[in-house]
This record gives sequence, structure tokens and C-alpha cells, in this order.
Amino acid sequence: MEDQVEEVKRKTDIVGLIGQYVSLKKMGRHHKGLCPFHAEKTASFTVNEELGLYKCFGCGAGGDAYKFLMEIEGIDFRDALERLADKVGVKLVSRKFDGGDEKRKMLEVMDLAARYYHWLLTDGKSGKDARKYLLERKINEKLIETFNVGYALPGWNNLTNYLIGKKGYKEDLLEKCGLVSRGKGVYDKFRGRIMFPLQDAGGKVVGFSGRLLPNGNNENEAKYLNSPETELYHKGRMLYGFFQAKQDIRKKKRVVLVEGQMDLISSFGAGVGETVAIGGTALTEDQIEMLARMANSIYLSFDADEAGIAAIKRAVGMAEKRGLDVKVVQIEGGKDPDEIASKNPLRWREMVDNAVDVYEFVIDSSMKRNDKEKVQGIKIITEEVAPFLSKIENSVVRDVWTRKFAEKLGVEALVVKDEIDRVRSGKTSQTEQINKKPVDAPTEGRSEKLMRRVIGGLLTRSSLRTKVRGWFEKVELEGAMGKALKYVCQHPEDSPLEILKGAQAELVEVIQEAYMAEGENENSTDKEVVEMAVQLLREQIRKEKKRIMEEMETARKEGRENEEEQLFAKLNELNREESRVVVLLG
Ligand SMILES: [Zn+2]
Repeated sequence: MEDQVEEVKRKTDIVGLIGQYVSLKKMGRHHKGLCPFHAEKTASFTVNEELGLYKCFGCGAGGDAYKFLMEIEGIDFRDALERLADKVGVKLVSRKFDGGDEKRKMLEVMDLAARYYHWLLTDGKSGKDARKYLLERKINEKLIETFNVGYALPGWNNLTNYLIGKKGYKEDLLEKCGLVSRGKGVYDKFRGRIMFPLQDAGGKVVGFSGRLLPNGNNENEAKYLNSPETELYHKGRMLYGFFQAKQDIRKKKRVVLVEGQMDLISSFGAGVGETVAIGGTALTEDQIEMLARMANSIYLSFDADEAGIAAIKRAVGMAEKRGLDVKVVQIEGGKDPDEIASKNPLRWREMVDNAVDVYEFVIDSSMKRNDKEKVQGIKIITEEVAPFLSKIENSVVRDVWTRKFAEKLGVEALVVKDEIDRVRSGKTSQTEQINKKPVDAPTEGRSEKLMRRVIGGLLTRSSLRTKVRGWFEKVELEGAMGKALKYVCQHPEDSPLEILKGAQAELVEVIQEAYMAEGENENSTDKEVVEMAVQLLREQIRKEKKRIMEEMETARKEGRENEEEQLFAKLNELNREESRVVVLLG
């Protein structure tokens, strides 16, 4: 498998692949374009064909062809691998455990089932009532096609007859797919229902959600019936409509989260293409992860009941951890997004655009439910809101909301602040401490920047590598960057690709970055690179001299004369070295 991963990568034309999403221009050794992962006006997104890498110097996104496809399509590694393998014509051998073949078979069956249901809905008499029902709910032909909506006949054996009788699949396989139930033999699980295929991020059908088509004598059955969890379908990782929405999510950098299938389709139909549904379960970390890859903010539009508010609170914690902004769409003039969006698309679009900040929503909804004119009311409101505001990590943002809250409540800001501080100090549990975002990494030092530029410059100029190869032998260079520089100097003859292949794992990333960053400095001359190298060398020598002088001072104080002499000799050597370097500067 490992070799095939490499093989597929080698055969993939990364410029062609990325070029399907980003318009790229050849500039020197690299291709450049506007980054698809953040909004920018000047191109800092760089693709290098030779190394098969991309890197954005604006937002830091970067990696190989797999990473790009995963990020832009919101799919996992396995899917990315399959897609690229398909493109370059490599037939993947199945994994060591024999899951591969069966999974493929299951996907085949699910796809056939979806086509079958869709055919029943759209073609001919049997789907007439279902079509009528959908039209009444404002789900037109275009939406039916986009979401591949279908219809399951009321009988017990329609799908089984088709898949087993006609297509020759085995009962076991259908059962594994969750399409049938077992009694005496197997029978169709979904009967008399509008069928919504559940697709994964790559568009493959992995399950179904079936909505009962009311016919007068089936009122006792569940309104919605979903596929059971199978090897293909995992509820917690499913975002309904993600496949259809991802382009808009990426473009608008936001995603509208609704509860049900119908909410999703109606919202989409009303022109809010960036809508996905979580299907009535609590939002999971996996789902947030999928969304965070593409969006900067999520717009929650759940019911404003107690369960909805609890769901919102839960979502905020997870979303903020992933750096997502959270807004709440306030649902008014209808019971759910479906009703509003299908009746009045414009109104729904406005409602989404006017979504309020989640903190505002929490404050307002608590104030609506409680009476702030009464002491007891104020107490309850504070108890509901304070824990929520206390979780805001950024102290400036927290302060802003604290004041807004006090203002709305009509009390002194300081009092509210005290309460929030009290909650913060008392309730910060140990796990919360641990989960706290790490402090920002210290900003990169000057010499590191210089080192990166020297590495990049040398990588692309083998003649210079020969020239400077001996320079850095005597000085100490810190960290992976320093090691990388020495390593690059030691290989004057190799191409950048060969250098990368031979490098230790810890150096690979540093070297890649330096090389890609060199795209930014395409026009620097050989002379400039040499000057930077000299400058770097000089700085390092000075650093070392400083350290030695300090050691000498200690040795002198402690009367270690021998040591002092040795250090002095070293210092002289460095002085000579420095004069030599000054000459290099010319
Ligand atoms: Zn970027």
C-alpha cells in the first residue's frame, strides 16, 4: 500500500489537479494563484511541480496532492487516494484486512438502490403521489435531481426483488447495507417513503433517510426512518448535503447548519447553497472538523426550544476550539427553516444574513424567557448567561460581551464582570485547563528567517552551494533549520528533489518550506544570496563569541585558569574566522 501511495503521488500532475480549482500562473519555478483556503487579493499560493507540493504564505496551508484534495473536497485520505489513483490509472490492491472489496460491493449496492428509488420517483405512474407530495412541499424537479431524491414503493419486496432477483446480489450484503430487515428471509426496510440518499463528502451514497408518504393508513409508522449504522454510514460523521454544499461553503467561507433533510433542501432551493443538516443528532467533533476545513463561521439555525439552545451551547464550545465563529439564525415567522424557506425564499436569505452573534442570542433568549424587572428573573438570567460568557477565552471579546450583557440587563457592568470572574475562577476544571488553546508559538526570530532564505537560495543554486559549503562547518547552528542548512551545504551536486529524498524526516518540512518560500524571492540574485549567507555566518559567529566570553568570565571568577586559556584560544579562532568572513563580504 505504502508504495502505491507514493506511486500515485508521483504520477499525479499537481499543477493540473490544483488548476481545476485555482487559476494558476507559471512564475519562475513555481505556479502561483489566489489561495482557495483564505481570502486574498495578491497571490501567495504557490504550487511546485517538481516537488509535488503547494504552500500558501498567507494562511500557511500546504502539503501534497492528497492533502490538497482532502482539504478542498472535505474528504478523508482513503477517498483522496482512490480518486487520484483512478485519475492516473493505478489499480489499488486491497488493504491487508479484506475490507476493501466488500466495501466496494456495498457502495455499488447503495448506488444501485439510490438509482432504483430515483427511477421509481421520476419515471412513470408509481411515483405520481410522491411527486405530487414533493411539489406541494416546493421541492421541484431540479432539487429532486440535485439531491437524487427517490421513492420506495409500499410493498415488502420491491427492492429485494430488484437487487437479489434481477441483479444477483446476496441477502447478506443487502443486510450489511441496512437496506433490508430479516424475518423469514429478508424484506425491504424502507416502504412507502420518500427516499433521501445520504452521501459522503465525495458524493457516494452510504445510507438513506426515508420520509413517510402519508397515504391515510400508515399514520402509526415513524415519520422518518434512517439507515442503521453500517460499515459505510456513521451518523456522527455524516453531514447531510455536504457534498452539494461544499463549493458554496468554500466560496462564502460560512456554513448554515439546519436540523432536518427538508430544512436542508428548502434552504438550498431558496438560494442558500451553503446549507448542511446534522439530521437531528447532536453536533459532533468530527462534523465540526469537516466544516472547519472550509468555513470560517457556522450559522446555527436550530429550533429555539430548550433542546435547541442546549445544542447551540454545545456547538459553540467545539466550534470555538476549532477557531470558528458562531452565529445564530433567529427563526421567526415559521416553525422551521423548511417552512420559511419554501414559502418565502427571500425572507429566509435575509434571515440568514441577519444572523446574530451567538452571545447576543443567548442573552436575548434568556431575557425573553425571564423577567428582568424582578430580582428573581435577573438572578436566573445571570445564572444562565454568565457561565456562557465566562468561557470566552479572549479577554477583550469577553469584556465587550460582559458590558453588552450588563447594559441589556440594566445593571452595573462591574457587577456582571465580578460574577463572570467568579464563574471563571471557580469552575475552570482541570480538563478545561488542559484543553486551553496553547499560547501562540513565539514569533520566528530574525536569524531563522535569514536561515530560511539562505536555504531556499542555496537549494535553487547548486553553484552557490559549492561556494559556501565549508562556511558553516565551524559554527553551531541551532534547531532543525540549522541542521537543514548544514545538510543542504553538504550536497552541492544534488537537485532539490534528491536533497529532499535523502533528508532525515525532521528536516524534510523545513527544507520544503524554504524551497517553496523561495518562490517569493524569485528575483533575488546570486550576490544577494551570498550576502545573506555571510550575514548569517557573521551573526552566528558573534553569538558564539558572546557565549564564550561569558564562559571565560565565569572561569576567571572561579579561578579555572586552564579553562580560561582554552576558551581564549577558541575566541581568537572565532575572531580570525570573523575577519575572514568580513573579507567575503567584499
Ligand atoms: Zn491561504
